[in-house]
Amino acid sequence: MQGCMDVFDITVIGGGPSGLFALFYAGMRGARAKVIDVLPELGGQLYALYPEKYIYDMPGFPAIIAQDLVKGCVDQAFQWPHAKCLEERVVNIERGENDILTITTDKGRHFTKAIVLTTGIGAFSPRKLAAPSAADFEGRGLHYYARSFDEFAGKNVVIVGGGDSAVDYALALEPRAASVTVVHRSAFRAHAATVDRLRASRAVIRQPDFEVETVHGDGYVAAVTVVNKKTKETYRHECDSILCALGFVSDLGTLKEWGIEVEGNGIVVDTATQETSVKGVYAAGDVVSHEGKLKLIACGTSEAAIAVNQAMHYINPSDKIHPIHSSNLTLPITATLSDVR
Ligand SMILES: Cc1cc2nc3c(=O)[nH]c(=O)nc-3n(C[C@H](O)[C@H](O)[C@H](O)COP(=O)(O)OP(=O)(O)OC[C@H]3O[C@@H](n4cnc5c(N)ncnc54)[C@H](O)[C@@H]3O)c2cc1C
Repeated sequence: MQGCMDVFDITVIGGGPSGLFALFYAGMRGARAKVIDVLPELGGQLYALYPEKYIYDMPGFPAIIAQDLVKGCVDQAFQWPHAKCLEERVVNIERGENDILTITTDKGRHFTKAIVLTTGIGAFSPRKLAAPSAADFEGRGLHYYARSFDEFAGKNVVIVGGGDSAVDYALALEPRAASVTVVHRSAFRAHAATVDRLRASRAVIRQPDFEVETVHGDGYVAAVTVVNKKTKETYRHECDSILCALGFVSDLGTLKEWGIEVEGNGIVVDTATQETSVKGVYAAGDVVSHEGKLKLIACGTSEAAIAVNQAMHYINPSDKIHPIHSSNLTLPITATLSDVR
């Protein structure tokens, strides 16, 4: 753990896209900043859940692969020498003397004047396939993430699920895999245009009312039995890989005990400032809950910019909230004055 006895200006909890943009903005505002994340890499959901998926709704990028966007966000954020504490789970925050906030993790304590909480959907884990034998095949042909599409090249792949991830995975693997079969028990929830592309592809679609009942194999996935829940008919599919995209169980952990107002699984903020119910603690991105909230990268980064500018004003009330002129900003190492004017 780096610099744990130092008092930082801003500590960002959660290194997804919202947290990375908060770090970038903290650098621009000349703050000493730190990021803490429980994962071994920065990037949040983009790194952990869909590194090879295309993202189409980032300003300035007609299409960008998630891991490339993460690389850009990390490079942009670390133009300043921010502290980085990975594989540390935050378990509590509390206010101490002189308004200094103490962040307790599973590895130690961090001290900071302000916090930007960007913990997203929390420490997340994939919803597991219900088939009784499924657990035996995890890591032996049964996957909950597609870290690299290459590992599915030339394979017969069964994709389970009907949301955006399942349909995106099916479209991405269809040109690479020997065959792709999508099994889903109800209507597709994915974007209509991508569902249309899937239907026009050579992927086999077993939907609606279909479920994987049994996974077969001798130590490694060899086939699945798929059942039609209405007709009770069963089908055996020979396959090498099963990729499940059944959503995620988010674990906000102890967040609800941190003394911050929470509604459902989200943190309540003043939408004008992104401040939580605790003074000096701001929140941005997927972890925030309010009417009209959009859980999108672009929205999370916008909230992060608001949060950091407000935090700077909170730390030092003579600092302006709005970074009006470039002369108010710390220039990134790679930028010139004209770049930020
Ligand atoms: C399959 C899929 C496709 C998507 N496609 C798009 C898209 O095309 N366009 C778009 O705009 N959005 C898309 N999204 C949504 C987008 O990924 C989220 O809106 C975005 O990741 C939110 O960023 P965030 O930084 O707020 O949170 P996250 O990305 O969830 O990052 C939160 C980070 O906080 C860390 N953390 C959580 N709790 C703790 C703790 N207690 N201690 C330490 N660290 C902690 C986590 O490890 C994680 O790294 C997609 C989501 C999914 C699942």
